[in-house]
Amino acid sequence: MNTLIKDVTCAGCYCACDDIQVTSDGQQIQEVQTTCSQGRGWFERAATTDQLTPQIHGMPVSQNEAIGRAVELIQQAQAPLVTGLSQSSTDAQRAAVALADQIGATIDTGASAVTRALQQVGEATCTLGEVRSRADLIIYWGAADLLSNTHHRQSLVANSPDIPRKIIVMGEECSREAELADEYVKIEPQREIEVIWQLRALMQGTDLAGKEAVGITESKLKSLVSQLTRSKYIVFFTGPEFKQGPLAHRKLEALSLLIKEIQSERRCHALTVPDANETKGAEHVLAWQTGYAAAVNFSTGFPRYSPGEYLASRLLEQSEVDLCILAGGNPLAGLSEQAIKCLDDLPAIQIGPALIQDFQPEVFLPTGITGIHFPGSMYRYDGTPLPLRGFLPTVQNSEAEVLKQLSKTR
Ligand code: SF4
Repeated sequence: MNTLIKDVTCAGCYCACDDIQVTSDGQQIQEVQTTCSQGRGWFERAATTDQLTPQIHGMPVSQNEAIGRAVELIQQAQAPLVTGLSQSSTDAQRAAVALADQIGATIDTGASAVTRALQQVGEATCTLGEVRSRADLIIYWGAADLLSNTHHRQSLVANSPDIPRKIIVMGEECSREAELADEYVKIEPQREIEVIWQLRALMQGTDLAGKEAVGITESKLKSLVSQLTRSKYIVFFTGPEFKQGPLAHRKLEALSLLIKEIQSERRCHALTVPDANETKGAEHVLAWQTGYAAAVNFSTGFPRYSPGEYLASRLLEQSEVDLCILAGGNPLAGLSEQAIKCLDDLPAIQIGPALIQDFQPEVFLPTGITGIHFPGSMYRYDGTPLPLRGFLPTVQNSEAEVLKQLSKTR
């Protein structure tokens, strides 16, 4: 008999929509009621996880053999790296940190640019509920994916008080989303820091006459400042395009300083949005376990943080890793193209609910999916922890259990 399960949370991306309706016969998902194809794909993955078998070099083996080989690789490694953790539950992220600590590995979540900036100047942030209830000016800066996400737009209007709200899109790649906004401001990525500094200057009453042009006209900058100063509650959503480039952390720092200045007169917050397919949360878990939110190295027996040194992509690109442990539903999210190419030359252990396309790890340990097969929790991108339900049986272990088995057996 089919059962309708209401208000299921989808862990398919950082949005963590918690209003999905799923019909199940108790063994498999029969229907997913969502307009999001990515979310549908995440739920559909549950139909294939039970057929996955542990593998060594692509050959099926028993779970014990796969665990045994993984442990051997870990014991032989001098400089292991634990990465991925996107679409992982909080429990799995915690188990990954514990494993990294135990084996003296580096662990990195891909949140390094944000972390570097925030350690310098701090972060003024809020929940989506506050945005929905109070924001009268929302600025999407390099956050095209978020603005075009129907679930996100609906979540900002559902049950929200009737407040006049203006939406501005900023960045280079948001032109196709401009029709969803009231205004579109095109900014070249290499001029974004200068734009922020000129906005700060204008907010402080400094005349820009004679200053170098930054790709947008002074009148446009003044219009932006006027809207910032007329609004009561401003929220910046900064997306993956905003965080690109070697000076991404400086950009985030500059924006944080602008937000601080705006806050002297009115409410203003920022929410950083990860890449599509990614979830956030590993940085929260790392921070409360080690004191650092990304790029943590345990080789000396205690956590050391150095984003320039322990960035997962950099370590892989510079061949400073001799074993890579990839965990989570989408473990390559956040790695550079070059780093992904370098993975081919390394022994790798992959732990997750699907094999990575066009990549063969030395050891593959399959898992079920937390949120479908196992209960747990995850962080939404605004830092709100949400419960995940387990409503289907599975023959697989959870990602957290596999990571804990590696820690125990070692
Ligand atoms: S937007 Fe993200 S969380 Fe929401 S249904 Fe789609 S994939 Fe799932």
